[in-house]
Amino acid sequence: MDYYSRQISRLIEELSSLPGIGSKSAQRLAFHILNMPVEHVEKLSSAILEARKKVRYCQSCYTLTDDELCPICKNTKRDHKTIMVVEDTRDLAAYEKTNKYEGVYHVLHGAISPMLGIGPGDIKLKELIQRLQEDVDEVIIATNSSLEGETTAMYISKLIKPTGIKVSRIASGVPVGGDLEYIDEMTLLRALEGRTEL
Ligand code: ZN
Repeated sequence: MDYYSRQISRLIEELSSLPGIGSKSAQRLAFHILNMPVEHVEKLSSAILEARKKVRYCQSCYTLTDDELCPICKNTKRDHKTIMVVEDTRDLAAYEKTNKYEGVYHVLHGAISPMLGIGPGDIKLKELIQRLQEDVDEVIIATNSSLEGETTAMYISKLIKPTGIKVSRIASGVPVGGDLEYIDEMTLLRALEGRTEL
């Protein structure tokens, strides 16, 4: 990208390192940013920086939040004895949008994938097992229906079974390989209500 000045090239390069941003989109965004008022650019960059610096894992469920405990874990009206295990914070948001789930969550931040070299130690699994020391009635496994999601579900159920805590899996109404985030609320609710004990 020698035809752009060094600063422009650098901006394009940084933007294209983001997921889903190819070199064309990166160039479009870069020139858009260069045409924005400086105050607006300052607001944008400080939002990115502040979010990155302040957002951390909830001490209980490991979702991303900006406090020690996320609002769901802090809420005493939620059923803290029912834990839904999801792959990431976006999946949690998808279930929250249904407004029907009253339990709490556990966010794994990934799924087991032998192909990608992601093992049980690479996701928040031991943190989940630790939580089971508390008073827990049921663990609902809501990982995606992809190969990785299913592998993770199997692994978790094998770990929990000996504890005597009820383990269930959301119904497979969710399309195979489907990203929970893109599934409508009705389908999510049906998957949750139709869960089966493992
Ligand atoms: Zn939490």
